[in-house]
Amino acid sequence: MELTVLGCSGSYGAPAGGACSSYLVRAGDAVIWMDCGSGAFANLQYHANPGDLTAVVISHAHPDHCVDIYGLHVLYKYGLQCDGLPVYAPEGVERTLEGLVGEWTDTFDWKLVADGDKANIGDVDLRFARTDHPLPTVAVDLEHAGKRLVYTADTGPGWSVEAFRPGADLVLSEATYQHDDIRAPIHLSARQAGELARAAEAKELMLTHLWPSLDPIASVAEASEAFGRLVVLAAPHLVTHV
Ligand SMILES: [Zn+2]
Ligand SMILES: [Zn+2]
Repeated sequence: MELTVLGCSGSYGAPAGGACSSYLVRAGDAVIWMDCGSGAFANLQYHANPGDLTAVVISHAHPDHCVDIYGLHVLYKYGLQCDGLPVYAPEGVERTLEGLVGEWTDTFDWKLVADGDKANIGDVDLRFARTDHPLPTVAVDLEHAGKRLVYTADTGPGWSVEAFRPGADLVLSEATYQHDDIRAPIHLSARQAGELARAAEAKELMLTHLWPSLDPIASVAEASEAFGRLVVLAAPHLVTHV
């Protein structure tokens, strides 16, 4: 499985090309656009032909995770004239985005997902779990060829990676805050991200969704101490193999 970070800025865009949450997952024949935060569609086009996508997965309806699907809709409808691309998303995403787009026509095949649901995209097995976040939000466990990537989406500390099987090869965890300044309990601190990944026996941990004004080195240090090993920091265009 290949994971490419298209955007990782937490909650709003950062300077110097800091798009919001978005990832590209390639595995077997599957090309999955996972979260479509603001600014991410431009970065997607560095790494994939949008016409080659096999599915989109959206964690929730906050704009920093979903608004850039608007660009894909326009390209599919007026440029490539593609239709029926599967889009997996929890309750509220389709309706929220429809307010921007007006009418979806048949560009996308919306598939509603909720806690405990499973799906297959090509050779990738997906499981979804509802996180601790105000809107219906799903974390995603992606498994391909015996390897597992768990994406926490946005969550407060009331949810844990342990909702999935232990021992994921890579946990991609939100770490919006640092522990001495948690502004809202709907997100994790870097320390909490490290603790939760450690409890779930994650093999590797990558931090994402950091609040843009934070010192990322301090977040890495905080999470690494809690995780017990050095963690990786997401950055736009970073490519990782799981
Ligand atoms: Zn967010
Ligand atoms: Zn959110």
